[in-house]
Parts: sequence; C-alpha cells; structure tokens
Amino acid sequence: MRIVLLGAPGSGKGTQAARLKEALGVPHVSTGEMLRQAVAAGTPLGRQVKDVMARGELVSDALMLDLLEERLSRPDVSNGFILDGYPRNLVQCQALAALLERLGQPLDAAVLLEVPVAMLIERLAGRAAQEGRSDDSPEAVKQRLRVYESQTAPVVEYFAAQSRLRRVDGVGTVEEVSERLLAALR
Ligand code: ADP
Repeated sequence: MRIVLLGAPGSGKGTQAARLKEALGVPHVSTGEMLRQAVAAGTPLGRQVKDVMARGELVSDALMLDLLEERLSRPDVSNGFILDGYPRNLVQCQALAALLERLGQPLDAAVLLEVPVAMLIERLAGRAAQEGRSDDSPEAVKQRLRVYESQTAPVVEYFAAQSRLRRVDGVGTVEEVSERLLAALR
C-alpha cells in the first residue's frame, strides 16, 4: 500500500507512521527524519539544510526531490510505503505525481490527521521540553505552523480535489488514533 500521511507539525504523523508501518508492513519514509539524519551525520546535504530547518522553513524543492527520488527508487519500497513530510507544497505535489508515474507506483490514498491548532501548539511545546529538536523553539514552531498554513494546506485541497483524501480525527490516545487511521485505510 502506498500512502501519503498529511498533518500539521505536532499532529502526530511521526508517532502514527511508526505504528502504521508495523500494521501495514511497509517502510516509513519520513523526509524530516532523513534530513535530521543528514544534519546529525554532517553530510554535505546536512550542512546545506541545517539552518533552514532550524528556522522552521522549507528546504528547497530541488534538494527534496533528489532525496525523495533516491529513497523511492530503493527496492524496499517496491511493495509500498508511508510517505510522511512530503509533499509540502503544490510544486512537490506535481513532482511526486510525476515520480510515481515514472516508477509505475500510483498512490492508494492520502490521509490527513486533523488536530486543532491550540492542541498542536501545546503538543509541540511539550515535545520541545522533552526532545530538544532545534526547530521546536517557540520562534521556529510559529514559523513551521505559518508555513503549514500557507504552503501545505493547499496540498490537502489538491488531494481532496482528486477524491484521494481521507480525513482522520487526530485527537485522542495514540491507540484510538491508530484505530481510526487503519479503519480509514480499509
Ligand atoms: P514537522 O512536520 O513536525 O514540522 P518534519 O520532521 O516533517 O517536521 O520536518 C522538519 C523540517 O524538515 C521542516 O520544517 C523542513 O525544514 C524540512 N522538510 C521536511 N520535509 C520537507 C519537504 N518535503 N520540503 C521541504 N522541507 C522539508
């Protein structure tokens, strides 16, 4: 199964993707994770994206497409994937459509985790205290939410217009949300 997981920062995408991966038996492809690993390893890509990420802004579409293309061309995703963190704007929607077309791997669904903004802010503040991610500072969180509203919200509309979008209530326990996600994908 090939799915795109959509949701604002703090919506629980990462947590749910890790569980979905077990339930569906397909890899979790998180562009944010891939970038954080590159930063941690100090690769040329990591050095290029470090500051942009820390500010809560988007990495360039060209860099992201290179990264995604390389990842989705590996054999472990031939039976499917859960894509988390991409696409994040309309240019990336087009790029993904073209890439999947070329790979002969059409998407099955796009699933949106819906969580009210007040709760996103609360969750991100909690995570900042625990994990110390460089983009969980109050300024970067504000910027990530602004970027989501202006650039990523249209991605939701893009999938809705194609009748591919499934909306899932992201408020509840981790288990409750997992159940809803699986039900939405059945
Ligand atoms: P969150 O959804 O919590 O903001 P992610 O882990 O998905 O976190 O992404 C962290 C950061 O990585 C983003 O703020 C952005 O700088 C960068 N990033 C991840 N995916 C993309 C993408 N598809 N396009 C541009 N930048 C991205």
